[in-house]
Amino acid sequence: METAILSGLDASKALYQSLEERIARLKDQNITPGLAAVLVGNNPASEIYVKNKTKKFEALGLKTDVFRLEESVSEDELLSLILDLNKNADFHGILVQLPLPKHINSEKVLNAIVSTKDVDGFHPENAGLLSIGKPRFIPCTPKGIIFILKHFKIDLTGKHVVVIGRSNIVGRPISILASLKDLGNATVTLCHSGTKDLKYFSKQADVLVAALGSPEFVDASYIKEGACLIDVGINRVEQDGKSKIVGDINQESVSGIASALTPVPKGIGPMTIAMLVENTVLSAELLLN
Ligand code: NDP
Repeated sequence: METAILSGLDASKALYQSLEERIARLKDQNITPGLAAVLVGNNPASEIYVKNKTKKFEALGLKTDVFRLEESVSEDELLSLILDLNKNADFHGILVQLPLPKHINSEKVLNAIVSTKDVDGFHPENAGLLSIGKPRFIPCTPKGIIFILKHFKIDLTGKHVVVIGRSNIVGRPISILASLKDLGNATVTLCHSGTKDLKYFSKQADVLVAALGSPEFVDASYIKEGACLIDVGINRVEQDGKSKIVGDINQESVSGIASALTPVPKGIGPMTIAMLVENTVLSAELLLN
């Protein structure tokens, strides 16, 4: 069987094209969607993530500012910045790049972002809206997964979607989205580290979402022939003395058995960034309504 490669670059390009019109409509009304990115400390991976995100905003003519704080910043100082940004009309979205230093309570900081600017979709109000089937800001990675499946005309209706990983950022929200009547309409199984006999479930998947953060964990023995595979993982590994990024799926092992597969890199990663842009545009639009 030929395994189709579901390119996140192609799908995100289609989204950016559709956003251009929405951005132009906002600019006609003197509104430029803006993102405030808060970066604490000097974590090299966080630097790259923030740079990749803000680069896209700039390319689309959107406003973006990075607020850099020292690793030693106090929780109160960080909270005070968030409260200022909540009130700043130039920013329709606020992103706090994780992880934060250990002395800061990340949950408290994320919850301080006003829910109407929570373009990451992590605030309890947005998580609650999603869980009752009335989503406002959907977390970017799961939203990107639904978009890429739609882009490549992979219909989830009636399919069995098996998700490995139950984080609030990826696993749990994609399991909810896939089960919603309007967005997925699939039958969903959510697996995690407490799941007994993971292969029993993963081998039933018509669509398998691997979001466990374990390099190349899922190989051919975990899937059934013809399954569509979504590889969310971003894992840095050392191979032959070189550092490289691999997913949670052993792509070589499943090639020729799966019907479709998102690559790593250039799969779900670009979709996540595209959805951050989309959520920020949506936030600006919601202000008008
Ligand atoms: P977390 O570490 O927060 O969650 C991992 C989940 O996987 C947990 O629910 C854990 O179970 C489960 N798990 C871990 N090992 C196993 C196992 N052997 N069998 C079954 N379940 C297991 O990770 P994230 O959700 O934040 O991220 C997952 C991966 O996706 C990472 O590689 C991350 O880098 C990547 N990622 C990629 C993004 C992108 O844009 N492409 C965006 C966000 C994340 P338990 O709850 O029991 O601990």
